[in-house]
Amino acid sequence: MQLARRLAGGPLWIVPLALGILLILVPYFNLEYSIVRQLQLAMILSLLVSGLNLSLGFAGELALGQVAMYAAGAYTAGLLSKNGHTDILLQLAAAGLAALLVGVLTGIPGLRLGSWSLAMTSFFLVLLLPDVIAIFKEDTGGRNGLTGILSPTMFGRMLTPEDYFMVIAVVTVAWFAVMRNIAVSRHGTALRVLKQSPVLAASMGINVFRMKLMAYALGAVPAGLAGALFASLDLYISPEAFGFTVATTILAASVLGGSASVYGAVFGAFVLQFGLNQSTDFQKYSLVVTGAFLIIGGVLLTGGLSGLARALWRKLAAGQPAAAPADRSDPDASAGDEVPAVPGKVLKVEGVAKAFGGNQALKGVDLTATPGRVTALIGPNGSGKTTLLNMICGFYRTDAGVIALDERQLQRMGPDQVARTGVARTFQTPNIPEGITVREAVMAGRYAGHRATVLEAVLRLPRYRKVRKGDLAEADRVLDLVGIRHLEDAEATALPLGQRRLLEVARCLIGNPGVLLLDETASGLDEDEVERLAEVIRRVRDAGGTVVLVEHNFQLVLSLADEIVALAHGELMAKGTPEEIQNNERVMSEYLGIDPDAPASPHVVLADVLTDGAQDGVGR
Ligand code: ADP
Ligand code: MG
Repeated sequence: MQLARRLAGGPLWIVPLALGILLILVPYFNLEYSIVRQLQLAMILSLLVSGLNLSLGFAGELALGQVAMYAAGAYTAGLLSKNGHTDILLQLAAAGLAALLVGVLTGIPGLRLGSWSLAMTSFFLVLLLPDVIAIFKEDTGGRNGLTGILSPTMFGRMLTPEDYFMVIAVVTVAWFAVMRNIAVSRHGTALRVLKQSPVLAASMGINVFRMKLMAYALGAVPAGLAGALFASLDLYISPEAFGFTVATTILAASVLGGSASVYGAVFGAFVLQFGLNQSTDFQKYSLVVTGAFLIIGGVLLTGGLSGLARALWRKLAAGQPAAAPADRSDPDASAGDEVPAVPGKVLKVEGVAKAFGGNQALKGVDLTATPGRVTALIGPNGSGKTTLLNMICGFYRTDAGVIALDERQLQRMGPDQVARTGVARTFQTPNIPEGITVREAVMAGRYAGHRATVLEAVLRLPRYRKVRKGDLAEADRVLDLVGIRHLEDAEATALPLGQRRLLEVARCLIGNPGVLLLDETASGLDEDEVERLAEVIRRVRDAGGTVVLVEHNFQLVLSLADEIVALAHGELMAKGTPEEIQNNERVMSEYLGIDPDAPASPHVVLADVLTDGAQDGVGR
């Protein structure tokens, strides 16, 4: 128990590394041939599953085309071998590239169209595969299969079966090291952001299509490697090895192992490989068994076997708190030590109009927000506040008008481009990815602004380390600023609403935004939390930030805003200082429903009166 606790506190990668070394050394253990063969096939399956995990588990795209890339790798390697190029390293490289090419070519149309089309296009790709192979019958042997593959060599030396086992094991271990490095890097976090919501990803400056394509294409590489390894294992390949059954097996193993995990692929692949091949009787029902595994994995075990293992691990290491600690404020944070500068820019909205069908949501709205000031946007439900934010962020195209941030016009840009220009926003319903810590969720806000390639992340090259160091330091800074630094290791989605809102603000601030758009940030918060949030907004303003606040809590608006803009039916109703707005009869009667003649207090908390059903408008 003591040991387990110690281990759980230490770096977890030691366990897979030890298992990997054990696997590489298997040829020395004199195992039975049948077991050795199952191990080899299980490793090849793990590679395939791992590739699927990248697109399905991390990026949230269901793609079944893994098998096609597997076939591309296998035939590339097989044909090379047949033509005398027997070096396995050469074959692996060529197969990886061929699979990457197939991945990119087949991914582009499906990914452009959206998630279901990718599932469908990749599904048809799998169905087409045998026919495609048959078309090139001259070279591939068509349905009869490709024979004449020569025994693999390395640097001119023939490989024994034991050597070849080690090659498979080393490639598998190396790929999982790569995969692990991607998963824990900023790219892994960005993929989880994408999975949570493409809208969120775009609002953080991430190019959604490129990101999806990256995951899909990267996932092709292990499939290609698996293909090459498979071709030289039996020295024979045929279209049957790349059929629909294999596609389902990969999917089932992924779901069973937990598709959002790195090592889940190994769990799932080994369970299926050994489970399916126990006896020939069993094999007859393999599709049924695979289906059963799929259902078990998908329904009973959320997070798959790896999720289960992680939960057990946590129980064992009971000393380690897994969830967020209770809400407590950080005494250091609210001390208001020196506030670092937030370089705000001028946001200018002029004559912006937008119609949805016949519904004129905005009819020429002007708004100017300047650095060091809070500009509040108020108005009854349906008056167009969220629509205006969505137009500024580039989620909707303007029908007319100009939106500019420090002279740079935004109205023709896509949402990710707008975000990279310096527009950051929070969502009416906090939008926070699963499976990452508060610190990672905040660091993701710097992903688009500070680049390091996947290769740099995998190899941990200097630029990656530098960017990562910046990510960590900046996350500390903004978490201090919003006062939740003590929660940085907690799971982000486990935070209560108030802190999730603060987390979103921190995620915006880490990118040093030119303007910060807050959509109903205070709704659903209790009084203390509202006060906390108000304090954070004041700090941002005092640090020079430009803040646009859409808010129903009128008291909060009055206490925070330097200028208030009131909308009604998509038009400007009034504009002025809090005093001017408080004394504006039209605003008081139309928005607050207060009779101007009656002696009423304007200090009404409207969150209770008006509940905004329309959420962020752009979906999640
Ligand atoms: P607010 O945030 O001020 O409550 P909204 O901006 O959500 O108001 O809505 C303004 C008007 O635009 C409403 O009439 C709403 O029905 C309409 N609207 C907003 N988004 C869409 C959309 N995506 N499609 C059609 N109509 C929309
Ligand atoms: Mg709204």
